[in-house]
Amino acid sequence: MAVKAKKTARKSNTIKLKFDTSWSYDPAPESKSAASIKPKYDHFINGAWVKPAGGKYFDSINPANEEKLSEVADGNEADVNKAVSAARNAYEQTWQKMPAKERAKYIFRIARMVQEKARELAIIETLDGGKPIRESRDFDVPTAANHFFYYAGWADKLEYAFPNRKTSALGVAGQIIPWNFPLLMAAWKIAPALATGNTVVLKPAETTPLTALKLAEIIQESDLPPGVVNIITGAGATGADIVNHPDINKIAFTGSTDVGKLIQRAVAGTNKRVTLELGGKAANIIFEDAPLDQAVEGVINGIYFNQGHVCCAGSRLYVQESVAKQVIRKLKDRMETLIVGDPLDKNTDIGAINSRQQLDTIQRYIKIGKQEGAEMYESSCRLPGKGFFCRPTLFTNVAQSNRIAQEEIFGPVLSVLTFRTDDEVIEKANNSPYGLSAGVWTDKGSKIFNLTKRMRAGVVWANTFNKFDPTSPFGGYKESGFGREGGFAWVIALCEFN
Ligand code: NAP
Ligand code: MG
Repeated sequence: MAVKAKKTARKSNTIKLKFDTSWSYDPAPESKSAASIKPKYDHFINGAWVKPAGGKYFDSINPANEEKLSEVADGNEADVNKAVSAARNAYEQTWQKMPAKERAKYIFRIARMVQEKARELAIIETLDGGKPIRESRDFDVPTAANHFFYYAGWADKLEYAFPNRKTSALGVAGQIIPWNFPLLMAAWKIAPALATGNTVVLKPAETTPLTALKLAEIIQESDLPPGVVNIITGAGATGADIVNHPDINKIAFTGSTDVGKLIQRAVAGTNKRVTLELGGKAANIIFEDAPLDQAVEGVINGIYFNQGHVCCAGSRLYVQESVAKQVIRKLKDRMETLIVGDPLDKNTDIGAINSRQQLDTIQRYIKIGKQEGAEMYESSCRLPGKGFFCRPTLFTNVAQSNRIAQEEIFGPVLSVLTFRTDDEVIEKANNSPYGLSAGVWTDKGSKIFNLTKRMRAGVVWANTFNKFDPTSPFGGYKESGFGREGGFAWVIALCEFN
């Protein structure tokens, strides 16, 4: 695409470039007709749809046009009690006693059904959460199916994985998940729990409950014994009821550091096992010897993928001083070609921000960045008139101590900083309350090994970014949480060893 840049406006510390694009793509929206969404959903408890004890429901909207999609049950303590008691019964009467290879068959069946319904799940994920259909279709749904396939394979191999030790399940797992990867997070939590013989009470996020409820339909259709998986919808208070329930053996939480801290306090002094997967402020590091075009593409993917609603988003970019100008130029050019708009359109790169509240948070941070004296650049694209949208944005002249370099924004906002030496960038990258992920771009293998060993981050990607796989352990340092989920580590975290 031929793109010509013209500097047209300079206002305080904001520079806008106006781009004439010589051509654009015709709309290519995915049809909604393949998705069936019920007007109302109850809780999924003990294999059946159960009305909320309090009789209350709340709306789930499409953040791209603010239209109501459905209403879902608002769970309270009585609902949570019902779900936990169903999970306990299923654990004791059925699931724990079932031969592992039989458990595996159910998990394989769910995996195949997720694949069969992939198109519908992708459309609902995009409608409910705002992410581009390309992502839900090519990443979220296939990776969710892969999680069921991978952990199904583990179910009957535990006795070989831990020779001379007897393993058993922990019991009932309470699982609370965020809105950025709703179906994938549900699969990530449910699949390994089932493989290791645990039963589940899961709560999806308030703004994105629909694919978890679709998964409940799949689970019901798979004939999984009633009570093995229970899905309760509701707000933060419903999550807290799960955390505080005395008959839960394991809490697996993915979400913000603030809520993670509350959970840590709530379970202190109990026998509950906990894994906390929390926030992040990943450093993406470009050295002067890196293949710059490839690195820029990786940075774009790292921060603008899924609207920056990614715990391991590469939201801090450290560029070696000698190539900083060149990299920033290339980044701005590439930002101009990103298509922001209808998430259902197959050409869309950046969809809708998940909620008004999150859009407000992002806009607040953009304001803070300007007030801190950083220089803001945003792409010149037009935003849709309705819905929650944000242009891809970057800040240069950022200081290490600026809030936009320290705090998680969870939106398409990149802070660019520079460095001269390896030691300097390692110190700067590690100078963060978080430690979930990082990236390094260089031509030199030795530099990669030197850096990755010294980075305090759970995942360090080299010459790539945002790559996920069910076989890899995942988790954070410092305020990004503790415990490892994913891969074999996740199996270990869900077993008792005798
Ligand atoms: P959040 O506000 O912490 O919510 C996460 C989940 O916890 C939601 O289901 C939420 O319900 C529930 N919740 C809220 N208050 C609770 C409480 N007091 N007790 C128990 N549960 C409670 O996080 P979010 O805004 O949905 O997600 C974004 C955050 O998740 C970011 O910080 C991101 O970095 C992090 N994240 C981390 C990872 C990782 O693997 N480390 C992955 C994805 C996201 P409601 O929806 O009703 O509020
Ligand atoms: Mg929604």
